[in-house]
Amino acid sequence: MQVDQSSTSGDNTRNSDAERSNGTESHQPESPQQTSDEAQADVRENELNALLAQDREEISPNHKAGFVNIIGNPNVGKSTLTNALVGAKLSIITPKAQTTRHRIFGIVNEPDFQMIISDTPGVMDPQYKLQDHMMDFVWEVFEDADVLLCVVEGGATKLKAQGMEEKMQAAEAPLVIVVNKIDQMEQSQLEAVVAELSEAYPRAEIYPLSALNSFGVDELKRVLIEKLPLSPPYFDKTQITDKSERFIVEEKIREKILNHYKKEIPYAVEVVVQSFKEEPNLLRIHAEIHVERDSQKGILIGHKGAGLKRVGSEARRDLERFFDRKIHLELFVKVQHNWRNSDVWLKRYGYKRK
Ligand code: GDP
Ligand code: MG
Repeated sequence: MQVDQSSTSGDNTRNSDAERSNGTESHQPESPQQTSDEAQADVRENELNALLAQDREEISPNHKAGFVNIIGNPNVGKSTLTNALVGAKLSIITPKAQTTRHRIFGIVNEPDFQMIISDTPGVMDPQYKLQDHMMDFVWEVFEDADVLLCVVEGGATKLKAQGMEEKMQAAEAPLVIVVNKIDQMEQSQLEAVVAELSEAYPRAEIYPLSALNSFGVDELKRVLIEKLPLSPPYFDKTQITDKSERFIVEEKIREKILNHYKKEIPYAVEVVVQSFKEEPNLLRIHAEIHVERDSQKGILIGHKGAGLKRVGSEARRDLERFFDRKIHLELFVKVQHNWRNSDVWLKRYGYKRK
């Protein structure tokens, strides 16, 4: 868009300059000052044209771009694989199911392609409204995939939601199945899983790998890039995700809560960044942690505030690494009764679009 706009205004400038200089030439002599201004304008215009040409060159007609949409049961390593493919810690990862609640794009940019990896919540049959909306993100995956990437782990290859396997069979996009966590599998077990999958999904290409150890990830990446269609990029080529800095902060705080608290706490928590201010050499962030009940607030804060303090300092450390800046992080806990079943709050938190 920016390229198009500047190209138009560049052309307009050139035309009006040409007219003006024609008029000037026939009616009055040019002063030396005007000549040097015009010469400077010419230099600027040449520079602009060179930049535009460079931009056009960067996005060649052979440029490929597309969406690789990941799908799979909770906890099989979808987010770990997304991060390994993108080479950045975008999606949060914990040993708990349902860590990922949104659809998150991780973007891999090279001069001749842009691969958008779409990480999603794990497939499940929803129990409350939040999970309904999480599943909406999952179903969306079939609508815009250029490649469908199903992740399974040994011993649990059946998808945990009604109708999902039929959808995967019927989808138009090429289907790639990753058997993840092979570091934990015996060779014979792996062979059995691959045989079972190739029988169940004759159209699929199957790649065993270990996302955690980045084993087999480069090979998979090559295969995925090959399958992308010719297309100009969808996002700016400097972008590595569609999500905001605020979102990254919220997710990082949630990751620490998932890691440190048990039972219902991680699932009753939503994090909202209230302010995100860039100051010289410092990011000042103020975030609220919303829970569903007073008792959860007490547990989260912990004895003399120790629990909340640990979440804050671990999140801050990771975020300082991610943003490469010093961070001042302030956390507050607030009770938002029954938000997981509230249409109003789910909408405010960005889960509900319709
Ligand atoms: P998701 O719910 O499918 O997104 O799964 P995550 O990426 O959050 O990973 C769930 C758990 O599996 C985490 O504890 C990961 O460290 C672990 N994990 C992911 N990939 C591998 C792998 O290749 N090998 C092993 N051993 N663990 C893995
Ligand atoms: Mg995940």
